[in-house]
Amino acid sequence: MYALTRCGVCRRPRIADLSSKESACPYCGCVQKTQDLPRYFQSSDQNAVREALSQATGFVPPDEVRKKERVAAADPYSTMVYRYEHCSDLDEKMQILAEGLTAIKGTFTLDDVREIAGERAEKMVAAMLDRCIISEVRIGVYRA
Ligand SMILES: [Zn+2]
Repeated sequence: MYALTRCGVCRRPRIADLSSKESACPYCGCVQKTQDLPRYFQSSDQNAVREALSQATGFVPPDEVRKKERVAAADPYSTMVYRYEHCSDLDEKMQILAEGLTAIKGTFTLDDVREIAGERAEKMVAAMLDRCIISEVRIGVYRA
């Protein structure tokens, strides 16, 4: 049996294995008797207890994480757009786009390029592929 409990010393929610007599807090190292620990939820399925723990510790749903990443990426993104717009050399523009988008997004699509390059996006992607600045990792998905 596993239980969702809370450390008596640092008060952090954690999981305790009820089959052992004592349980040590992974955060502060404090050892408590398992029987003395409060049990907010218990199950023989460790995954179910983990699930309960992630809810207790304010688990952030993937959508929220992505939103945060987008905010964090806003800066490098606008920096890249600025560099792109203030660069007159086409080869360099493509390099900035390819490396910038790959660094920020991992991979990118024609739509991502279009947001920055507008109507030239299609030609630019074709030219970038031509010059081996980018490669197509899946259909319509590129990276530098
Ligand atoms: Zn603790």
